[in-house]
Amino acid sequence: MTRGLDPLERYYGSMLGLAIGDAMGAPVEGLAPGMFPKVTNFSGGGVNNIEPGEWTDDTALAMCLAESLVAKNGFDAPDAMDRIRQWWRAGYWSCREIAFGIGTTTQAAIEYYEAEGAPFSGLSTESSASNGSLMRLAPVPLYYAESPKDAIQFSGDSSRLTHAARLCVDACRYYGALIVGAVQGVPKDELLAPGYSPVRGVWLCQPLTGEVENVARGSYWEKAPPAIRGRGDVISCMEAALWAFASTDNFADGVIAAVNLGEDADTTAAVYGQLAGAYYGISSIPDGWRDTILYRKKIIRLAERLYQASRELAGK
Ligand code: MG
Ligand code: MG
Repeated sequence: MTRGLDPLERYYGSMLGLAIGDAMGAPVEGLAPGMFPKVTNFSGGGVNNIEPGEWTDDTALAMCLAESLVAKNGFDAPDAMDRIRQWWRAGYWSCREIAFGIGTTTQAAIEYYEAEGAPFSGLSTESSASNGSLMRLAPVPLYYAESPKDAIQFSGDSSRLTHAARLCVDACRYYGALIVGAVQGVPKDELLAPGYSPVRGVWLCQPLTGEVENVARGSYWEKAPPAIRGRGDVISCMEAALWAFASTDNFADGVIAAVNLGEDADTTAAVYGQLAGAYYGISSIPDGWRDTILYRKKIIRLAERLYQASRELAGK
């Protein structure tokens, strides 16, 4: 039962949960499930030669968005895109001196932005419907949690910076709605009920596209691995993250379930961690994990600024 949590605990949990999922999954990114020993803690290695507790592009880009929201007092597409570009070109908010782990759709958007100067630079083709905007989503619904309608709108807009495919935009709208609900302390059975929204009737006025709606109706309840996969397309990713959240009852078990799906493990677990961290709160995350994550204090400070900004927005 998580109803009585202080909302600030949920902000810390969501941002740290994202980073923890990213860092725990990164060493097995790209590996098929069963092709690596079961992951139950931070480890090192993998395609990006990760140090234990080090996170990747997922967290770096979420921090870019978070900084932009608090610096500009709201979602500001050119500023957000500038920071995303700064990450790639200059290592802004990267764990390392240079950025690493960029996805092809994000790279194409940055290059288009540099050439054309239009902040909404995401491709809209079906083949570009990857999980690269969902993985960095949390700061947007956290910032607008007191204004759920805006949270849903700007969750979709934040996707369009780099991922404009309808599947990506709608996945972010729905997942943003879930994060708002989690921050508000909505119980899990209500949150995962078909078509949950913190705004009554929003999916009737602005429907979710078919495959996103299918997940929102609870496609993952009927499935288990290997039908659930940690692939890089946005639908598989959201379904896998929600499966991990639905099939466990605490932060740690869910993140372990997400990571051990392999494939795009860092991102599946980062998507899980945003929602689960908001739902269970920071105190539910094992101490050893909280202490190991790189730049923990900077992440916490930014989560706090998002919380303060959300309160100011609501006039509290
Ligand atoms: Mg990554
Ligand atoms: Mg990834």
